Parts: sequence; structure tokens; C-alpha cells
Amino acid sequence: MLWLETVGKSLLTNRFTVMKILKFGGTSVGSAERMKGVAKLVSSEERKIVVLSAVSGTTNALVELASLAYNDQINNFDTKLQELKNKYQDFVEDLYKENSYKKEASHYIEAHFNKIAQLNTPQFSDKEERIILAQGELMSTRLFHLYLRSIGVDTVLLPALDFMRTKEGDPNEAAISQLLYEQIEKHPDCNLFITQGYICYNEFGEVDNLKRGGSDYSASLIGAAIDAKEIQIWTDIDGMHNNDPRIVEKTFPIDELSFEEAAELAYFGAKILHPASVLPAQKANIPVRLLNTMQPEKKGTLIRADVTHEKRITAIAAKDGIVAIKIRSSRMLLAYGFLRKVFEIFEKYKTPIDVITTSEVAISLTIDNTAHLSDILEELKSFGNVEFTENQTIVCVVGTFLQGNASVPVRVLQLLKEIPIRMISYGGSKYNISILMHSDFKEKALKLLNEGLFFENAT
Ligand code: ADP
Ligand code: ASP
Ligand code: MG
Repeated sequence: MLWLETVGKSLLTNRFTVMKILKFGGTSVGSAERMKGVAKLVSSEERKIVVLSAVSGTTNALVELASLAYNDQINNFDTKLQELKNKYQDFVEDLYKENSYKKEASHYIEAHFNKIAQLNTPQFSDKEERIILAQGELMSTRLFHLYLRSIGVDTVLLPALDFMRTKEGDPNEAAISQLLYEQIEKHPDCNLFITQGYICYNEFGEVDNLKRGGSDYSASLIGAAIDAKEIQIWTDIDGMHNNDPRIVEKTFPIDELSFEEAAELAYFGAKILHPASVLPAQKANIPVRLLNTMQPEKKGTLIRADVTHEKRITAIAAKDGIVAIKIRSSRMLLAYGFLRKVFEIFEKYKTPIDVITTSEVAISLTIDNTAHLSDILEELKSFGNVEFTENQTIVCVVGTFLQGNASVPVRVLQLLKEIPIRMISYGGSKYNISILMHSDFKEKALKLLNEGLFFENAT
């Protein structure tokens, strides 16, 4: 019996390991033409799960609708809802050739928009908001699934709500894996599965989501859950660039990144990846490829284990919306256990600390989740004098830095000599130097570092 179970499991595992996960972001499915392009990209024989985001602009519009519902602005809500519905009607018109498919798709769209309208009641709460936010991915996958049927491609639409689970705000990886295997096993002959990114059920059985940009995280969790061969993140740029291309002009794609470098960049603001999306793939050692839907022939970026460089400066990222907190206390002098007490307060309010520096009588640290800021500040006051500063940005230089050789931090500080720096963190790992500054200086800092670290033949 044990033997049969083992063999059965290994056959099953082999069957799943040949699977790839392909995630397409909002702009990749942002118009009927783009969606048709995605259909071409996924039509090989290889077994795969395609994870889709909402059509671009949709989640923003749904966020706005939710805020109108909170503020009881019925007329504005109805106008905004109708605007979005018109866009979807045009989308349907452009996507399908035959009337029968146009009719079926319109019927779906009607049902989703009716649902959104019904949720707008005076009792509107975050529970209804989350159901509204889920409609974007539910619609894009329905339309795509129907489009593939209309061109004769056989696919199975796997509802993410049947397997994607969170518990206390984090993915419930064991449940995701078990439920996903169960769903896939029902379709042994299917080579192309489609599912929604971003959405999930929480431990209370409520519709929830993995936060903005969360479809990347879904793809990585799905890949890890079934031990996929590769996770591909298809987007509107040819891979991870060495700096934020929205701010700096001369940026270029990076061929290969280690999981550590990619995780640092995602966490510290490289929007191409959701901040938590590298970890599941890294834990399961599954390569992640970043590719461009508009230029599929481009190499993109491969993120994998064993990308080893003795030293290199890889990329720069920046994370906004940071609050710096300074706690000054004479009780810290020669005391032990003090940091633990401070950290316990952040733990109590589930607020991660990003950067920290200490001196004998003070601690400076940064957070980006300000949901419980006032409670945290109140509790910290019992330790001494507490100050906080908003509108800060962490600029993060990522690479592999030689231990015991300060040439990179020295160069970074030289380049930023005109910029008032609030905190510096170096040595926490060999992959990152973090510098905290007022957000007004971000653009200048990114440009100076780009020029000085990548184009002046420095270091
Ligand atoms: P999607 O909708 O496909 O999820 P996103 O808008 O979330 O796409 O991410 C892609 C965008 O990330 C790019 O268009 C680019 O402007 C931005 N971006 C920010 N930093 C970087 C970086 N270092 N490399 C590549 N893209 C970046
Ligand atoms: N649609 C969601 C968002 O816009 C998730 C995603 O696109 O990754 O945030
Ligand atoms: Mg994204």
C-alpha cells in the first residue's frame, strides 16, 4: 500500500512538474487585440496554467467605485459604473467575431455589473469592497476563456476561489497546494488551465485579495503549490531593468538575477514584481522569467538560484510612502532586551520594519504600513521620546557586494553628497544598501546613482 502510494505520488508529481505557469498583467490583456495576442502566446501543446490580471484600469476603477459606495455618492457611483460597463461592452464587441459569442459574453458582463450594483447599499463595508475588487479578474478570465473556445481551443477555467486561500493575511500554502492538486486532477487531459490572479478566500470564507499587484504573487504561489517547471511573468517591459524606467531615462534590462537580488528589488519598489512574489518560487527553487507580451522574442530576465557574481552592482529601486520613527531612551544605555520590547510592539500590530539603525541611546526604524501608526507611537512613548517623519523614500542599491570592502557604499555616498540622507543601512546582507531620504529627493537620487554606478565606469 505504502509502495503504491509512493509510486502514485511520484507519477503525479512528474506529471505536474512539466507544467509552466504564465501570468499576464493588466496591460497584456488591456484591449481585445492584446487578449488575442495572449491567446497566441499560450497556444502551444505544453501543459500550463495561465494566470490573468484584470483588464488594465479595471481594478483602479473598482477601487474608486468602492470609495464612492463608502461615501454614499449614489449618482457618481452609477455614472462611474456605467462608464466601466461601456468599456467592457466595446471590449466584447472587438473580441469576438460571431454574434453568439458576443451575446454570451455580454450576458456574463451584465451579471458581473449587476452584482457590483447590488453591493452598493448603505451597509457597504470592506467585505463588499473586496467582492467588488474581485470582479476585474473574474471578468477578464471569463472573457479570455470564452475567446479561446470561440477559436476552437479547449481550456478549463479553474476558479481561484476554489483553491487560493489565506490565513491571518498570509497565504495558506498547504491548503492551496492540496486544493489545487484536487482541481487539476479532475481534468487529466487538459493542457491549458486559466485562473484568476489576485483573488482568494480568507480563513473566514470571505472573498479577499493579495493586495495591489497581487497577480504576480498568485502565479508564484501556484507555481510553488504544484512544483511547476517555470513561472513566467508577462508584462509590458522586457524584464527587470537596472533602475525605475518611469523615472530614469537610460535604463536597461538585466539578463539574470538571483532570487535574493530579485526579492530585494521587488520588496524595495521595482513595480514589475509584487513585493512578496519572489519568495514562494525561491523556496520551491522554481525559475521565474520576466517577459514582454508586446515583444515576446526579447530575452527578458531569468531569476534563478546559483546566479553567482563575486561582485556586481545589479540595480536600483525605490520605495515610497515610508514613515521613519526614532525612539530615544536613556534606558537603552547598557541595557539588554530593549530592542525585543520595541519589536514586540510592531509584532503586536503586524507591522513589518524595513530598515533599522541603532545607537547606544536611540533607534531609528522605518515602516511602510501605517494602518496602526498612532497605536504604535502611543505604546512606544512608554520607552522615551518618540519622533516620526512621513513622506520618506527608501532608495535601495542591490547587487553582490564584497564583504569587508566598502568601495560600493563609499561610491554611493559620494554620488549622493548633495542629498540630505536620513538613514543608511549596509551590511545587513551582502545584497543591499538602503538609504532613507525625503521623497522629494528620490528622482534626483535615482538619476545620480544611475549615471554614477552604471555609466561612469565607476567603482
Ligand atoms: P502588470 O500590469 O503587467 O502587472 P506592472 O505595471 O505591475 O505590470 O509592472 C510593469 C511596470 O513596472 C513597467 O511598465 C515599469 O514601468 C515598472 N517598473 C518599475 N521598476 C521597474 C524595473 N526596475 N524594471 C522594469 N519595470 C519596472
Ligand atoms: N488587478 C490587480 C491590481 O491591479 C492585481 C494585479 O494586476 O496584479 O492590483
Ligand atoms: Mg503588476
